[in-house]
Amino acid sequence: MNATTALATNGLVQHLDASVSPAHSVEYSAQRLRAAGWIDTSFENIQIDFPQRGMIADSGLLLAWNASTQKSRKFHIVGAHTDSPCLKVKPLPDSGSFGWKQIGVEVYGGILNNSWLDRDLGIAGRVVLRDGTVRSIRIDDPIARIPQLAIHLDRDVNDRGLVLDKQIHLAPIWGLGQYRPGEFAEFIASRIDVSVRDMAMWDLGLFDLTMASLLGSDQSLLASGRLDNQVSCWAATEGLIDSADVVSPSDTTTVIALFDHEEVGSESTHGAAGPRLAWLLEALHSGSRSDFHETLSRSHCISADNAHAIHPNYPDRHEPSHRPLPNLGPVLKMNANQRYATNPESAAVFLRTCGSASVPHQIFVSKNSIPCGSTIGPITSTQLGIPTVDVGIAQLSMHSARELCGALDPSMLAQVIAHYFSE
Ligand code: ZN
Repeated sequence: MNATTALATNGLVQHLDASVSPAHSVEYSAQRLRAAGWIDTSFENIQIDFPQRGMIADSGLLLAWNASTQKSRKFHIVGAHTDSPCLKVKPLPDSGSFGWKQIGVEVYGGILNNSWLDRDLGIAGRVVLRDGTVRSIRIDDPIARIPQLAIHLDRDVNDRGLVLDKQIHLAPIWGLGQYRPGEFAEFIASRIDVSVRDMAMWDLGLFDLTMASLLGSDQSLLASGRLDNQVSCWAATEGLIDSADVVSPSDTTTVIALFDHEEVGSESTHGAAGPRLAWLLEALHSGSRSDFHETLSRSHCISADNAHAIHPNYPDRHEPSHRPLPNLGPVLKMNANQRYATNPESAAVFLRTCGSASVPHQIFVSKNSIPCGSTIGPITSTQLGIPTVDVGIAQLSMHSARELCGALDPSMLAQVIAHYFSE
């Protein structure tokens, strides 16, 4: 690994490998923040116990802040999402046929179906016990696999393309023999050392066991699962930590909001369409209602989520004048139809910050014939009325079980965020 790459990916590889579920991602970022002096609190306690550098870590949602030392006149917020498309274990998963034991899975978000084939899969997430206790679980052993049909039994697959029925063809195998109802629950219970009777329900997903790694003859690239959107979660967390010791006459309260459920529309208690960021901003602001609204209108938000780099084998999928490449800096995402929240004013703030951080940037707009996806940006700006800019690093293979990005871009994004929080 060359020195530049080593510096750029410092800590990111550990973050990626640790973040095998939204709750694991939150716990890893929370640990980083705790080590840097942030103090845990909760919505139940926030009025009586209000840390200047505080955080609320709650399953897949992390809210963390550095409150202004003077009266807060504006917020600078970086939002991202902790979830990634994957396969989640159904509540009654035991199934099988012809002597194979299988796990019933539900497709979460827009996975690339084929990318989950022939990978050794672990299981991670959380189990809630009947008494309300939450137990985190991570099984790093190769527990399951979705085998692709051999070419000898699917002769024309390369010509007609691989078509997979999500209900029939994505059920992983996890052993041999006659399946037995309750067997999977017993397996999970034994791993967390409780009895099956004590378990109420789980939120468990499969993950590819392959660790994050640098790639390319010059190690200029980074391959991993969940780059979308763990890179942004990492950059937001590190940017907040790095900015904390900058002494500035601060009337700005800085906030990171790492939401769950973006990949399925953000509508949940822990998603960007839920009320919790608004609750936090109200708690952070001490003043009248109208003063709060003025503060929000002076505020700004960066919605950080990955962008599509141009693919060398499919150059026709990009708008010809807007073709982001890896390692050329964060991508500013624009969309006239407001699928991204960026407007000229919110863009100007981001471009100024890139300038002061000496970080280059690129601009993405989708081709008219291929509409872009969306992010938490439009949801947050619609709910709060805060001018928001959508940005993110350029990557390939978005929503594959294993994605690819430039090794230098994540730290450039973190650098911009640290400057944004220091202004
Ligand atoms: Zn994303």
